[in-house]
Amino acid sequence: MNRRQKPLTERYPNWRDAIPAACEAMFSLNRYAKYESCTPDHRDEIYRIKNGLIEALYHLGAAVRVHEHVVRRPKQTCFDCEGTGTSVSYDGEHEECYRCGGTGIYREACDDTFVAFRFMVAGQAYCWHQPEECLTFAPVLTEESEQCALEPKEKPLYMDRRKFADAKRLVRFVVESRTSNRSPDHIIRAA
Ligand SMILES: [Zn+2]
Repeated sequence: MNRRQKPLTERYPNWRDAIPAACEAMFSLNRYAKYESCTPDHRDEIYRIKNGLIEALYHLGAAVRVHEHVVRRPKQTCFDCEGTGTSVSYDGEHEECYRCGGTGIYREACDDTFVAFRFMVAGQAYCWHQPEECLTFAPVLTEESEQCALEPKEKPLYMDRRKFADAKRLVRFVVESRTSNRSPDHIIRAA
């Protein structure tokens, strides 16, 4: 940590004042998690704190819209055998494709369901998705579910990567403060 920087508890005697900055930090981290250069471990770490922040914001009453996004994934044919289920060995014999077990299918069609949250925090809108199976609470859906295409992977990043550690610390500070703070949540939408 930057030595000149005050601890977060001093910078934010009331942890709720850190929420807008934590959301901005999360915005950049969430974008970076979709970058090729983000390692799987780092991605998991970012998504863990993102899940924590989503839950905190939801319980603080900052969600203005919650609905499901369903991403259709079509059936994928096996590339090795081009869907025939058989491959030809060196000596010209036809055998069952080892990759797909002779089915010709790499992956059956399936739906991935995400819960899309739209939060308003200090006049700023944030839209974050969470795979349904990662939800740690049961949000009330405000709208019908919707079919969507996958978002493009990499979008511009406006945060210096050297600031990621501070960004994560800030989000964790909010998530942990809310968990350990026993006073009832109140609406921050108007903040
Ligand atoms: Zn195959």
